[in-house]
Amino acid sequence: MESYINETSFFGYATAEELLKEYGSPLYVYNEEVLRSRMKEMEGVIEKYPFTANYSVKANTNIEILKIALEMGLNADAMSPGEILSLLKAGYPASKIFFVPNNVSIDEIRFAFERGVITSLDSLSQLETFGKNFRGNKCAIRINPGVGAGHNEKVVTAGKKTKFGISEDDIDKAIEIAKKYNVRIAGINQHVGSQILDIKPILAAVTNFLRIARKFDDLDFIDFGGGFGIPYHKLSGEDRFPLEKYKEELVKILDEYASSVEKVPLFKSEPGRYICAEGGILLGRVHALKENSGVRYAGTDIGMNVLVRPVMYDSWHDIEVIRDGEVVLPSSSEKETVTVTGNICESGDIIAKDRELPKIEENDILAVLDAGAYGYSMSSNYNSRLRPAEVLITSDGGHRLIRRRDTYEDLLDRF
Ligand code: PLP
Repeated sequence: MESYINETSFFGYATAEELLKEYGSPLYVYNEEVLRSRMKEMEGVIEKYPFTANYSVKANTNIEILKIALEMGLNADAMSPGEILSLLKAGYPASKIFFVPNNVSIDEIRFAFERGVITSLDSLSQLETFGKNFRGNKCAIRINPGVGAGHNEKVVTAGKKTKFGISEDDIDKAIEIAKKYNVRIAGINQHVGSQILDIKPILAAVTNFLRIARKFDDLDFIDFGGGFGIPYHKLSGEDRFPLEKYKEELVKILDEYASSVEKVPLFKSEPGRYICAEGGILLGRVHALKENSGVRYAGTDIGMNVLVRPVMYDSWHDIEVIRDGEVVLPSSSEKETVTVTGNICESGDIIAKDRELPKIEENDILAVLDAGAYGYSMSSNYNSRLRPAEVLITSDGGHRLIRRRDTYEDLLDRF
């Protein structure tokens, strides 16, 4: 595909130029139709058995996006009281929220408990704390199944080298602690890693988790976690996660499990990235061009404070160049190898290194694709920069502001 923007009519009736003019640069732009279609896919991963997809909202916590996810039938996973509050504000009933924290104070567990939100405890010590404070109640526990997967060491969230979950060897101890406090372990969850495009490790994780689930007596739910990958190299033809094939293989595994147990619990998953990555594009403006020691740089306003993934995980994001309201197609333009940088005072502040792109001119707009997940939600005010606005291209092709840009007053009013 030459242009994802053109292929999806991503900006509806507007051009990137008009959007930046109205809302300022840089700017996160989301496309409602793309978001809805990914949500629908995730919601239908298991059709034969009771199932809910919990959107892992850390990927993107914009309340308008949370509302769309609720409309599309998704439940949600929250990692913090702030995320629980956002979900409640978006209209989620407590019963649709699952709190999956890591190393939190009793105050945070109480925050969820008092609002009727079930919590998953991530260690024996947190389970003990829960038992002491909420004797006779129910919780879930997060298991570390011993194997992980993912595109970068920093997103592998299971296995011997990570901090997450209660290891399989400690399950008996967890059951004992729960008994001591008359706490019911109503569910178990796992999350093995992120940006997984191959179905094999995800299916292996499901099979393994169902084996582990047999160690528990009476589970209401089994949550297999998230991690479904998206094609970040879509402009060069990278394949999508083979969802249909995954569903086909998954149901066979579930059939085998269901035929060997008395009660089939509710199955859950926790996708984050898959829900919203492709539904978001980050727009920014080229302000400077230069050559230093043979390296050509395009200097933009898309700093690492706005999108940290390339710096944090060495992540790749495809980039499209926009000039005079039109995408500059690679096939019909002169190309150059260029390093695209931001405006932050760090030499690592790089969005794309030595990237072949259509020859960039000052004032061009760059569109960083697949920025809808772990984009705004990981942004910061580093260098006292303002976080950008977020705009939604609605299903009718129009657009509306769904989060205003920070102001200088925002920066100063906490002192
Ligand atoms: N669940 C948990 C516990 C996570 O830590 C994460 C992300 O790290 C997710 C779900 C969502 O992962 P992804 O965005 O890869 O689907």
